[in-house]
Amino acid sequence: MKSHIIYRPAGAAAEYASWGCNLYGGCTHHCAYCYNKRGVFRHALGGDMPQLMVKAGGSLQKAYELFSTQLDRDLETIIRDGGIFFSFTTDPMLPETIDGTMICAEYALKNGAPIQLLTKATWWLDRSGVVETLYDYRNLVRVGFTLTGRDDMEPCAPPNEERIQAMQYLVDCHIPVFASLEPIIDFASSLKMILDIADFCKEMRIGIMSPYNPKQYSWSLCDRFMKKVDELASDKGISVYYKNSIRRFYKENAPQ
Ligand code: SF4
Repeated sequence: MKSHIIYRPAGAAAEYASWGCNLYGGCTHHCAYCYNKRGVFRHALGGDMPQLMVKAGGSLQKAYELFSTQLDRDLETIIRDGGIFFSFTTDPMLPETIDGTMICAEYALKNGAPIQLLTKATWWLDRSGVVETLYDYRNLVRVGFTLTGRDDMEPCAPPNEERIQAMQYLVDCHIPVFASLEPIIDFASSLKMILDIADFCKEMRIGIMSPYNPKQYSWSLCDRFMKKVDELASDKGISVYYKNSIRRFYKENAPQ
């Protein structure tokens, strides 16, 4: 099948959204656990600098044309399915990626299609026009921040605490946010992140490391973590989505 610029993600990515858009591959955050640096597509996706994807057509102008043409064609289905996720192959809010992200995101928003942005970057809060645009379309936008609590594994990304401050700022601006607690590197660090944001972040998605390797985790620590998160979610009215990865770990490794 022809590769489209807006596509239907498969596997773990499909748990995030029914439609995704990857304009760029490669990322400057250099996370030690980056899933794009593994597997058969690592040469195309795992670079240290974002590059336009081949299917983006070779230029930002062409990428925009491809995006807008496909959005026009599939608009009704995309809206019905909950919109488009940016991005599985880079951080869409890097200085190198934000222009492409925002021209396409804004086209989607102008046409009534919801978007989700998942980032670790914070610099763009000060870039003229970006927060303003997200505010204008706040009913269609959700901005996610990945939180692991492990700055040592994310050497070139803003510290986790800075991401939390960015989330709080967006909430104060009435722009909806969610937290991606994925991957959990250790349960204690992830729980600390959850406790730090529980008063203002009402949507959390939680998953373990990819590819699946149960030897990396302790079932009893996972059990304690999930019980604590469930208790907090109930107390604070937080919507928690446990991804298949952690649900599988919990089920398959429970003591007999
Ligand atoms: S932010 Fe995501 S894409 Fe970028 S290096 Fe980290 S895991 Fe990879």
